[in-house]
Amino acid sequence: MKVAFFSTKSYDRESFQNHLQDFGHQISFLDVQLDSRTVSLAEGHEVICSFVNDHIQKGILDKMAKLGIKLIALRCAGYNQVDIKAAKELGIKVVRVPAYSPEAVAEHAFALILTLSRKTHKAYNRVRENNFSLEGLTGVNIHGKTVGVIGTGAIGRAFCRIAKGFGCKILAHDVVENEEMKRIGVTYLPLKEVFAQSQIISLHCPLTPETKHLINAETLSFMQKGVALINTSRGGLIDTKAVIKSLKTKKIGFLGIDVYEQEEHIFFQNLSEEILQDEQISRLMTFPNVLITGHQAFLTKEALEQIALTTLKNITDFEEGKPLINEVVIS
Ligand code: NAD
Repeated sequence: MKVAFFSTKSYDRESFQNHLQDFGHQISFLDVQLDSRTVSLAEGHEVICSFVNDHIQKGILDKMAKLGIKLIALRCAGYNQVDIKAAKELGIKVVRVPAYSPEAVAEHAFALILTLSRKTHKAYNRVRENNFSLEGLTGVNIHGKTVGVIGTGAIGRAFCRIAKGFGCKILAHDVVENEEMKRIGVTYLPLKEVFAQSQIISLHCPLTPETKHLINAETLSFMQKGVALINTSRGGLIDTKAVIKSLKTKKIGFLGIDVYEQEEHIFFQNLSEEILQDEQISRLMTFPNVLITGHQAFLTKEALEQIALTTLKNITDFEEGKPLINEVVIS
């Protein structure tokens, strides 16, 4: 099939090109993000392949339908950026990569925890300046801490297994409880209880109308003083304004985020020569106990390969009229 591939980065091109021959699709790699202006570049293609910050709302979908696009192949797990209902009404199918390497994201969440808890981000810079002082570098153990996990899907479960290995007590909240997790000792509790009892909270649920700003002034008030907050899921789960307030009062002990609500115009680009206009992320970067990575939790060789293979297979299944096991369907 002819695929218009938006928001291409060098690592996408490499991982997809490694497997293209096996599937026989023709891909046009486009550097630009998908929006109402760039969608016209998909003319002559049947499939659009897009990533997390390509927002596909009704207006863009209308244009896609006119161009004859039949399938949107998301090369990511989350699909909150797509108006699925409007796509369905226009007869455009949407497929995704539900689980490419849950461990990649879970391990990154732990990388954020370990960096912040042992201040290796500060130590790295100090040592490079021949400053071998340990003043201000006192950390905390992870062993024995109570960790709250919100969402025990593929990534949340991988995260729980790692936390178990560290000797943590694990509390979880999910709309569906998982038996394997219960067997390894995870205790499911109501959300408020998980927030109240945890010293570290890691978010692994999707962004939906129900979970938007799950972390807000009210829910922060239930949490312990010095709570560590980790978000590798979606930026919109956190009300950034409320979190900044809680960092100022030291209610939050440290914050590690790989996602940010307004990341769309910032992440995945080199803006080192620009003046950043986003006041909230600028403020977050001033805190010594905040670590921000630019949506890289998925970025491992293993995950990229799996993303390419699943996306290409999704497109082949569509072409051959086979059941779309990775179709995004809403009730
Ligand atoms: P998943 O679908 O396997 O699991 C999501 C879990 O969240 C499910 O168990 C579901 O029941 C639960 N859930 C849904 N609504 C909930 C609610 N209101 N409260 C509590 N739990 C709820 O998804 P996954 O593969 O584990 O991915 C989780 C999220 O991680 C994705 O939605 C995506 O946004 C994010 N993600 C981020 C990156 C990254 O690079 N940072 C990469 C992949 C995925």
